[in-house]
Amino acid sequence: MPRIHALPPTLVNQIAAGEVIERAASVVKELIENSVDAGAGRIEIEIEDGGARLIRVRDDGGGIDADDLPLAITAHATSKISSFEDIERVGTLGFRGEALPSIASVSRFALTSRSGNADAWSIEVAGGKPQAPRPAQHPRGTSVEVRDLFYNVPARRKFLRAERTEFGHIDDLVKSIALARTAIEFRLTHNGKAVRLYKPARDEGDAVRRVGDVLGESFTSQSLRIEHAAAGLNLSGWVGLPTASRSQADQQYFHVNGRLVRDKQVAHAVRQAYADVLFHGRHPAFVLFLDLDPALVDVNVHPAKHEVRFRESRLVHDFLYRTLHDALAETRAGVEQAVAPASALSWPQYRQQGGLGLGLGLGVREPLADYAALLGEVRGVPSQVLAMTDVAMETLASVNIPQADGDIPPLGFAIAQLHGIYVLAQNAHGLVVVDMHAAHERITYEKLKASQSGDGIRSQQLLVPLGLALSEREASVVEEQGDRFTALGFDIVRSGAQSASVRRVPTLLDDVDIAKLVRDVIADVIAHGSSRRVEEAGNELLSTMACHGSVRANRRLTLPEMNALLREMEMTERSGQCNHGRPTTVQLSIAEIDRLFLRGR
Ligand code: ADP
Ligand code: MG
Repeated sequence: MPRIHALPPTLVNQIAAGEVIERAASVVKELIENSVDAGAGRIEIEIEDGGARLIRVRDDGGGIDADDLPLAITAHATSKISSFEDIERVGTLGFRGEALPSIASVSRFALTSRSGNADAWSIEVAGGKPQAPRPAQHPRGTSVEVRDLFYNVPARRKFLRAERTEFGHIDDLVKSIALARTAIEFRLTHNGKAVRLYKPARDEGDAVRRVGDVLGESFTSQSLRIEHAAAGLNLSGWVGLPTASRSQADQQYFHVNGRLVRDKQVAHAVRQAYADVLFHGRHPAFVLFLDLDPALVDVNVHPAKHEVRFRESRLVHDFLYRTLHDALAETRAGVEQAVAPASALSWPQYRQQGGLGLGLGLGVREPLADYAALLGEVRGVPSQVLAMTDVAMETLASVNIPQADGDIPPLGFAIAQLHGIYVLAQNAHGLVVVDMHAAHERITYEKLKASQSGDGIRSQQLLVPLGLALSEREASVVEEQGDRFTALGFDIVRSGAQSASVRRVPTLLDDVDIAKLVRDVIADVIAHGSSRRVEEAGNELLSTMACHGSVRANRRLTLPEMNALLREMEMTERSGQCNHGRPTTVQLSIAEIDRLFLRGR
């Protein structure tokens, strides 16, 4: 082997560029972040040839002192931190002092800046060598010009994709920053053509419009506003309705203290929150901002700062899961178009009193004798589970509702059934169409879940205990944390150095591969300190049961039955979509119907 020698600075910078600069969009990211850190109110991004020929970012921020220009392009030189502790409370996006020297080492680079009332100066880097600064013309702020990216590292240049692909990444990147920094104006041009202009937001309304500009109006109109704070964590933003799910995970933005990150724990918490309302393979859309004490997140774990590490990752996970889960539980059918009734009783009061039948004496809530027949066809469902569908049966009691004016519930009153599949109802806005099987399936499922959790997890003794071969670590988890398993409805005891014996299992899990489930639960307990697997496996089963136990198509329903279904939907969490994430109702307003008849034009 040759003797050890220190590498020349240009090579050091090129190696650093390997980590930080993955593609043209990474350059754009670093430059925009510097502009944001410099307090810019306006950022212009000019791109040519997908960024391969030119990337120019211009801002009106604080600028750089002429004397500091050479330092700005020196490795590990930064104005943003001075000690290790500073990283713990860093409020800027950058702090490593690596971006500019890395970029300059793999491009033809120029930095021009003017700070305060001083003169503007410019510094160029050619072939990795900084040139002497020269006077220049520039308003207050900074411009960085990056030409011929990777011209001197052909191996990397080969990795640049087609112009359209690279520009697509740049466009996405600008969008993600525009979402987080609504007060800043962004202009993006490609090959001289203006592609994006995001006007600065002055208030909350503007900020919402910005989100609509970036992700499309369909996102803002089909999402739930999130705003929740607890335990020093603050979550805000929007999550897409389950019925507006996407085939790609292409509209998922999660910002931690203003920094866009990809995080496994976060992704997991979001996935779990949607578990009950999204069909497999579909992806929710969301734009979320988590703000917390900077000391509780380590941002220094990734050179491009795509990742962070939470000090209390379990707490963050549970907070996200809870907040989103609770928000999604409110996706009841008819909630968005809830009408304020003319009478003294408000809609929430009405709901609190358990519906018209109970509270107002307007109707009678009596069990419908032949309702059980409606459920019919509960084939292929285990017997102990069948007993539980009784709960579901009695819940859809009939309600007689006189057509009192004023008090029109959100989903209105049934007027007819269409082809044995849809219930048609009239409400204050117009016509409501309900997919009766989908709606009933959700209602049954939610009832089953509620009755299940009300009783706690019931368990049953196995006739013959099930022996499990485990690793020593797993066996000791079983031994030490037995009560965790008891809480989940299991009775498991360690039976040897590398084995355990399962004596009781949750009743609901009759058809499940117990050995596999127990192993998965142990793995979860080791990895996260707890497990939701039993609940999830149970829910899957309940969902199948709900499907079997729900009104089939081609059932004739009477008007009271249809109205009972509508009232139940209004009171059931998540009833806006069936168990697979498809919508259960559609609203056609009178205006929309008028349009079909070319009325009022
Ligand atoms: P970092 O952002 O991690 O500090 P950079 O290499 O990106 O490192 O930038 C080095 C320094 O150059 C920054 O600390 C900052 O002082 C200065 N700088 C870079 N870009 C700008 C800009 N657009 N406006 C003002 N100062 C800038
Ligand atoms: Mg930087």
